Amino acid sequence: MKCMTCNKPAMWVRCTQFAGQHPYCLEHAETESDFPEDNDSTYWKQLLDSDGKPPSFHEGDRVYVHPIKEHATVIKQILHYDGPEYTFWGNLELQYDDGTKGTSHSWQVKKV
Ligand SMILES: [Zn+2]
Repeated sequence: MKCMTCNKPAMWVRCTQFAGQHPYCLEHAETESDFPEDNDSTYWKQLLDSDGKPPSFHEGDRVYVHPIKEHATVIKQILHYDGPEYTFWGNLELQYDDGTKGTSHSWQVKKV
């Protein structure tokens, strides 16, 4: 996806209930008055980290969690902030097959 304003690769997307998705680069996302606030009909989703990489896991991916030898479904990969300018994709929020939720290091988890 490309920024709606300048055509650079989109780093953020505003997801709206009725008006579709609005992709923005970081610079132009920050010029939007509602960024990065979520409300009843819209939310902001980050697409890329500060190196321009997408997350390696996505919502709904089925994974095997090595330390506990269980299968789980990815809820989302968490974006970590290392200072204001640097972000990277890290831990995973998971839903285990018994219905419980947990967090796991992405390097301990394998896609199945
Ligand atoms: Zn832009």
